[in-house]
Amino acid sequence: MMRTSPRKKAVSRAAFKSKTSGIQTVKQDARLLDAEKFLLPTYKRAPVIMMHGRGAYVFDATGKKYLDFLGGIAVNALGHAHPRIVKVIRREAARAIHLSNLYHNAHQGPLARKLAAWSGLDRVFFTNSGTEAVDGAMKLARLVARNPEEAPGTTARKHRFLALENSFHGRTFGAISVTSTEKYRLPFAPVVPGAEFVRFNDVADLESKFDSTVCAILLETIQGEGGIRSVSEAFWNRARALATQHGALSIADEIQCGLGRTGRYFAYQKFSSKPDIALIAKPLAAGLPLGAILTSEAVASRVSPGMHGTTFGGGPLACAAALEFLETIESEKLLENIRARGAELREGLAKLAAKFDFIREIRGEGLMVGVELSVEGAPFVAEAMQHGLLINCTHDFTLRLLPPFIINRAQVREFLRLFELILATTPQQAFASDSGKTADPARVAHAAAR
Ligand code: PLP
Repeated sequence: MMRTSPRKKAVSRAAFKSKTSGIQTVKQDARLLDAEKFLLPTYKRAPVIMMHGRGAYVFDATGKKYLDFLGGIAVNALGHAHPRIVKVIRREAARAIHLSNLYHNAHQGPLARKLAAWSGLDRVFFTNSGTEAVDGAMKLARLVARNPEEAPGTTARKHRFLALENSFHGRTFGAISVTSTEKYRLPFAPVVPGAEFVRFNDVADLESKFDSTVCAILLETIQGEGGIRSVSEAFWNRARALATQHGALSIADEIQCGLGRTGRYFAYQKFSSKPDIALIAKPLAAGLPLGAILTSEAVASRVSPGMHGTTFGGGPLACAAALEFLETIESEKLLENIRARGAELREGLAKLAAKFDFIREIRGEGLMVGVELSVEGAPFVAEAMQHGLLINCTHDFTLRLLPPFIINRAQVREFLRLFELILATTPQQAFASDSGKTADPARVAHAAAR
């Protein structure tokens, strides 16, 4: 009789798991087993191995094709394997992948010039990720706020950060301190002291918390993880005015909503004023890790060599790809495409909202769209994968759509067709397992009864 080895047992467990999750995947794949055994369990990953992509589509290890309306969470703005990006990465990889910030490279300066032109700000510091840009900006805020008479190493009088409820700014210590979701912050306490949360778009709450001890207010111009919620013009204007009045910095986190996503270079460009600092990352280098802090000359004038730095940030390969990304947006008139496709998408979703009464609201701008449900969103994400569509769910009840800037009209139609099918076939669950229970109970009861 053949004995089952422990490895074989583990294999069949993985195969069983993939079946029960409802997602067709590579059965008994050793790569999944390695991931399960050796990775830190920080993600609830779908048991599927994504292999490659082309344009707005991704293919898994079984060859299954998915329409990608998540774009690597707002990163793959030019889709996959865009010929201009592939060409630049090939060329630059053969020249120099890394050189060090002790020297200039050929692409940082021109990229900084273009970002300054796009943003209306003056100077740039390159990072490797969004969270690193947030932490760097918080350091700048404390630096600018410190009165030269205050001894270094003491807590400056002007040290408080204001951030918004529902905010998400990243995972490093600075960024979690200004991230309101408690499960991201509380297990790591004490976090950076001095952060306080203002009720979203509540001007009176903002005014009551803003005084001369505040060094910065941080806000996502459109909250991403928080469920695709736009800061109102009244709130933006008041935050800008209070920051100026109290000598604090206004910091716009445009890591998810910036660089064209809304049909403008920056989401804040719909307002009449600009922030002191804008933060970007995600799509900047078309999939390579790169972020940036963009700031005014006034802030930059407080910085001197050695105060801040990074080994990898602003390397030649990532900067060359980023420059090509920005030039592609300009030369292929992608902002127009984003606005047009975004409008078609929202129009189609509005029709679906009239048909499916568990859709509570369609939110967003350009190609950053949230579909808020009165029932839990996760089952719809799993059902979408079954049907070859990638989306995700944020804040338990909001389905998030972040398609690439290059999608065409036919792909929007393809999405709407698939999405309607998914809305019609997904079994509805009333409450999230670790539920914040934000859904309207009457609608949940109704949806559950259907
Ligand atoms: N800020 C916002 C608005 C984000 O959406 C994210 C990531 O989702 C971050 C910051 C953190 O960026 P990263 O994951 O690159 O550190």
